[in-house]
Amino acid sequence: MPTSPFHAGDAPAACAPAAHDYALDACFLGPYGENDGLLEKLVVEFLRDHVYWRRNFHPEDPPPIATAAARQPDYLDFEARMRRELHQLSAALKKSVPFHSPRYLGHMVSDLLLPGLAAQMLTLPYNPNNVSEDAAPVTVDMEVQVGLQLARMLGYPHDPQQPACAFGHLTSGGTVANYQALRLALALKAFPVALRAAGVVELDLPPDDWSAFNLSGAASIALLQRWQAWLAAQPAADRAAWQARVEAERVEQRGLHGFFAAHPQLREPCVLAPVTAHYSWSKGVKLLGLGRDQLQLLPTRGMRLDPEALETALTRHARERRPVLMAVAVLGGTEYGTVDPVDAVLAARLRARALGLDFCVHVDAAWGGYLATLFRAEDGSLRTPAQVGAEFARFPAPEVHAAFAALADTDSVTVDPHKLGYLPYGAGAFVCRDHRAMALLAERADYVFHSDAPPDYLARYRSLGQYIPEGSKSGASAAAVYVTHKVLPLDHRHFGRLPRATVRAAEAFQARALRFADEQAAQVRLIVPFAPDSNLVCMALNPAGNGSLRAANAFVNGLHDSLRSDPQQPLQLKEFFGSVTSLRFDLLGAADTARILDALGLAATDGEDRLVILRHTLMNPYLIDTQNGISYIDGYFAFLARQMRMLLARRGQVAA
Ligand SMILES: *Cc1c(COP(=O)(O)O)cnc(C)c1O
Repeated sequence: MPTSPFHAGDAPAACAPAAHDYALDACFLGPYGENDGLLEKLVVEFLRDHVYWRRNFHPEDPPPIATAAARQPDYLDFEARMRRELHQLSAALKKSVPFHSPRYLGHMVSDLLLPGLAAQMLTLPYNPNNVSEDAAPVTVDMEVQVGLQLARMLGYPHDPQQPACAFGHLTSGGTVANYQALRLALALKAFPVALRAAGVVELDLPPDDWSAFNLSGAASIALLQRWQAWLAAQPAADRAAWQARVEAERVEQRGLHGFFAAHPQLREPCVLAPVTAHYSWSKGVKLLGLGRDQLQLLPTRGMRLDPEALETALTRHARERRPVLMAVAVLGGTEYGTVDPVDAVLAARLRARALGLDFCVHVDAAWGGYLATLFRAEDGSLRTPAQVGAEFARFPAPEVHAAFAALADTDSVTVDPHKLGYLPYGAGAFVCRDHRAMALLAERADYVFHSDAPPDYLARYRSLGQYIPEGSKSGASAAAVYVTHKVLPLDHRHFGRLPRATVRAAEAFQARALRFADEQAAQVRLIVPFAPDSNLVCMALNPAGNGSLRAANAFVNGLHDSLRSDPQQPLQLKEFFGSVTSLRFDLLGAADTARILDALGLAATDGEDRLVILRHTLMNPYLIDTQNGISYIDGYFAFLARQMRMLLARRGQVAA
């Protein structure tokens, strides 16, 4: 055990040599800053390039700022103050969490991909604003291209020449992308109802409001197009009047209250999501004005959405004529990394359609989205379970492969480039399968009223601000994502190398955890409560012989104290970083609760409503350092064993 407070801990444990993936070596600045020379060269090169660009704009303009020889005291004073503050900032930042280190197993963040970091740094001084092409002549197209790159990764149509091409854009993060999904779903479902209310009878509209609200997404889009074509065919004198009539009936015009008050056959719709859904869904329904009551959280099995529970809810809603706006499947849960059965959600929708109930299917893949690269061949086709599985011990479970394969048939997806895309904050993304629905979100209503204007796909989305929840936003961020996807195309041979390394690390981690459970059986009961679907591994622990849940939680919280950042202490005192989460029994369900407590030797819940567990996000590609033949995973478990002994000794449960 370390005696000096500055002891850096045991050296990471030796591991059997494995093949080293040299293609990953230039991807990051690196745990040791190995690629400092490369990044420095890039930054200096492109800063100089930027300066030349400024000087060559109108070289005949003389410099309005005095050059070096004539610096005034005010200048020097400013410079001194700036330097002082920057030095203080730089010093303070040394307390940051060392995300880049393979000793960091905490939250959903790791090192930054060099192409993205360099692209962002090089773009910053140009300061493009992707709200529109006026303010971002270069990067707004890149953002639209990013949408197509992601669409291809997901299996959506991605050829902008095709009418039913997908569309995607960046957001500040997954939270806003999820909100955008809600907005689009509501617009799409409410539009046919507005057409009915406006009395556009020539269009062969659904017979009543219920069926209008329950058109499939594809049928709503087809109706939108018929409407656009019909309007274009009207005499010019009538067109504006028809536009105004339809506009006046739209939910975007009337607001939720006015819209549903005008359609007593419809109640406000609900949103169905698993209990594991991220709290951004709660924010989303509040922001949309639906309210928390309309977010119905469905039970899970092993923390994956229970398809039977979904089926039951849908049957009830169909019977009670309660509209459903959207069903959310989570692809890579925030807490446990579990993957919902996207295919089963789509199958449930097919059956609900027979009952007259239809809704959008959105996949919240903020965390797991980039894992789709493992399933995508270079030619864009889906890889078979055998092809994917050849690179792993257990991954992918058949359910996981089926979920990724089903992405292509969903309506929209959230993906976070700032999570498994290894890019700087804030970069989330929203992608919808058929871009034509986006016209309904346009702030300038003309887009709803013209099928043909503006003429082409790229031109239309150059006024990005029309469609997105945000206004001004970072073009540098779009450049970072775009360049990264160009350097590492989103298929298994390129970008897929990263998730491959980390899913393998997760498999090694789980195997190590199970061996650890055997080795430490005299001290602790340890289980991995849910077989990991991806690269997040949780562990539940209980000191051997302990029957109190309260004491078990205190024990795990005690372990976590040594795994979390503490700004009061020198960073180097930390040996490893991990995180905790808790399994709430009401969300976990009786069967899983009983299974897990039993495996831990805990008889009763002790009045506690949750079990605290350790959570490890395995994102760092160097967890198994093949270069030096060491394993930070083994090092972590050695550390954990020491911490456990210390905690148990302190309790007097084990002789010190
Ligand atoms: C992280 C996460 C979000 C929220 O994304 P932000 O980028 O933090 O806004 C939503 N859903 C899931 C599943 C997530 O993991």
